[in-house]
Amino acid sequence: MSHPSPRQLVWLRTDLRLEDNPALLAACQTGPTVALFVISPGQWRAHDDADCKVDFWLRNLRALQPQLAKLNIPLLVRTLDYWKEAPALLSTLCQKIGAVAVHCNEEYGINERARDQAVQTALTAQGIGFSSHLDQSLFRPGTVLTRTGGYYQVFGQFRRACMEQLYHGLPSIGGKPRAQAPLDLPSDPLPEWIEGFAPASKVIREHWPAGAKEASRRLDAFVDGIIDDYQVARDLPARPGTSELSAYLNAGVLSVRQCLHAALRANQGELDSGSVGVTTWVGELIWREFYKHILVGYPRVSRHRAFKPHTEALPWRDAPEDFAAWAEGRTGIPIIDAAMRQMATIGWMHNRLRMLAAMFLSKNLLIDWRLGERHFMRHLIDGELAANNGGWQWSASTGTDSVPYFRVFNPVSQSARFDPQGVFIKHWVPELQSLAPKEVHLPPRGQSLASGWDYPLPRVDLGESRARALTAFKNLPRVR
Ligand code: FAD
Repeated sequence: MSHPSPRQLVWLRTDLRLEDNPALLAACQTGPTVALFVISPGQWRAHDDADCKVDFWLRNLRALQPQLAKLNIPLLVRTLDYWKEAPALLSTLCQKIGAVAVHCNEEYGINERARDQAVQTALTAQGIGFSSHLDQSLFRPGTVLTRTGGYYQVFGQFRRACMEQLYHGLPSIGGKPRAQAPLDLPSDPLPEWIEGFAPASKVIREHWPAGAKEASRRLDAFVDGIIDDYQVARDLPARPGTSELSAYLNAGVLSVRQCLHAALRANQGELDSGSVGVTTWVGELIWREFYKHILVGYPRVSRHRAFKPHTEALPWRDAPEDFAAWAEGRTGIPIIDAAMRQMATIGWMHNRLRMLAAMFLSKNLLIDWRLGERHFMRHLIDGELAANNGGWQWSASTGTDSVPYFRVFNPVSQSARFDPQGVFIKHWVPELQSLAPKEVHLPPRGQSLASGWDYPLPRVDLGESRARALTAFKNLPRVR
């Protein structure tokens, strides 16, 4: 007589999919599997996770639950406030359902790693196994290193090292687990919303439908059409020139391996030649890897510290009214206001505009980048610590391989270059609808009251504020 193999628990976090999910596959290959999702409102608030992102997680769980059910994998849902309660929760649950091992995919923030370490210690003490798997990135953070074993600080060098590894073999895509025999354990109902987090608006839900089907539809549409033009189109916010996959990648509805393989398929398998659009897009996936490496290699960046410590001495202005005007999209600089209103409405902002908005806050307004980083995190459906911190420190010239402090983008000329007809601006700042393309990037002074517009004058003079930022950087004790 054969004994049934012991139960396994797969702990889902930011890996909300069936396909190519290493932890789920490992669990299912070992024994009958039960899935768990832990709602952690206090921790999520402490991490500034946006309402719309939490709503997206819930919606994706709701899409995943019936797929798991088809494989006879029950989905349990538990709630705790802070992750410090996770070791007790996991230990008790494993005992209750008779699970002998927990499987999960690695997450790389400091608190995430401390949580997993504490859970592993608690489970090990009870003889319960714990295994974690590489999932979020192509390369495990800490494995792409310089010859002397250090972390790369320059993106170009890091990219070359990644490409070298990819030439030697691409990470493969795992399949989908097979259905198991039914377990005598029902799934838990999923909450519609979570106390303290507002449900997302209809606009956001329509813009970001949940589920792996939608993620792969977007990926296919992108690689079958838009990608070839990506190198140019990615800078034009009025066009759908980027994949808009970041929310799906960060919630793990789609894996980065699936993205890489799809892009290479569209390029006859070429990694670094062929379509410039494809190679540029693969480069963006490598930026994602780079910032995850930086997060792990230099943990100070996730403790609200600048990568370049000497920039901590910058004389940031305490200017709550300027900050509020920036956050609410009423700085009087149309492209900045359009960008901030886009994020407030759909929970996402175009990459070029993220750079412009971040630079405007940290340079022209000379307001601490950390306030902007937090504001983005609180509003983005794709908010992710490593990329958000990396993007902010790049724009503020406090980060690794960041923009030189004297290269302050002029938002008006950037606007004229990348939104020449003002199509994007007029969509998000309808007050400017009647302006000619020449005027829309900086409405002429003095006309605003005369024509009855309700649009503010610029909060700062771009030239003077740029000079103020340069002086602040030049006066730092040690500028590199
Ligand atoms: P695509 O252009 O299609 O790129 C494909 C994927 O590559 C993206 O989905 C993303 O996963 C990755 N990627 C692209 N650019 C970058 C980059 N510069 N750094 C890291 N990964 C990148 N990205 C986030 O995922 N979460 C954030 O919280 C975030 N905050 C940012 C803040 C600032 C100030 C800046 C300048 C950038 C930030 N980014 C962030 C990076 C980038 O803006 C977004 O990843 C991108 O706009 C997402 O749109 P997409 O999926 O259409 O990207």
